Amino acid sequence: MKISDKLKNNNGKPAVSLEIFPPKKQEAFLNIGDLLKRLKSVSPEFISVTCGAGGSAAHRNKTIELASRIKNEFGIESMAHLTCIASTPESIEAELKEIEASGIDNVLALRGDIPKDGFDISKIEYNYAYELIEKIKNESGLCVAAAAYPEGHIDCEDLEASVEYVKLKQDAGADFFVTQLFFSNEYFYRFMEIADRKNITAPIIPGIMPMMTKSQISNMIFTCGASLPSALIKLLNKYENNPDNLLKAGIEYAGKQISDLSRHGVRGIHIYSMNKPEIAEQLAVCV
Ligand code: FAD
Repeated sequence: MKISDKLKNNNGKPAVSLEIFPPKKQEAFLNIGDLLKRLKSVSPEFISVTCGAGGSAAHRNKTIELASRIKNEFGIESMAHLTCIASTPESIEAELKEIEASGIDNVLALRGDIPKDGFDISKIEYNYAYELIEKIKNESGLCVAAAAYPEGHIDCEDLEASVEYVKLKQDAGADFFVTQLFFSNEYFYRFMEIADRKNITAPIIPGIMPMMTKSQISNMIFTCGASLPSALIKLLNKYENNPDNLLKAGIEYAGKQISDLSRHGVRGIHIYSMNKPEIAEQLAVCV
């Protein structure tokens, strides 16, 4: 089923969705059923599966294989991420055929980060996600989601322009949006006001990731430009040497973010559970 239809039919409660990644190690990939069983107990409306932007065809196929298992073996709606920065029209057409043949109805269309090592930028055929969205809409009947950035995309200094590029993705056919993580809901509410002003009418689902470790947080700040509010910095400082308490505090903080977003009437909450079922379990109940 198309997620855009699910979002129309919700019962007033935000739809919970989860995000996971295909494990690199074959053994972990083959044992992913244990994770999916636990995630199913959370009753997510859908689970999305990440995809490496510069990854090999074999690794990208794992995204489709996992999204297909989620849908066909576990009966949960799934969404395969699809990046285009290293793709050709032919490779996208092949992936779309495989996605549809696997019974998957939804994709998250992304540009992907430009790979750092040994990547020839003169060979790029798709510079922006909106070009991929147009291609998917022309070539398939899939429901297409796209990314939105409450604090603006890290490469774009102007928030207004960043939101205009989100509008461009809606105009290209995006059916709904999932946001980058953020640690202060004020950024999301400000983004929603600008989006409203720019006539973005497709549903926008906020994405929440709890603070888990200090290195994960510093990695996030530099890769996606998310701001750290002082309340979170104080928790990092307090539990610097106690990883268990840091994780507990991170989940509690994210839970409060989710409860506040739910009270503000968001259409859904996307939990970046990243293959940790305990995170999905503890945060889904905050919706
Ligand atoms: P775009 O929307 O194309 O934007 C890319 C940059 O170009 C931005 O700075 C934007 O402001 C600018 N821009 C857009 N249009 C124009 C234009 N017309 N003219 C000038 N500038 C323009 N990455 C992965 O590799 N794999 C994943 O599975 C993955 N999953 C993600 C899931 C979510 C929910 C989110 C929010 C991000 C995810 N990413 C993933 C990261 C994403 O690939 C990066 O943030 C990437 O740098 C941008 O992708 P995009 O689709 O938003 O690109």
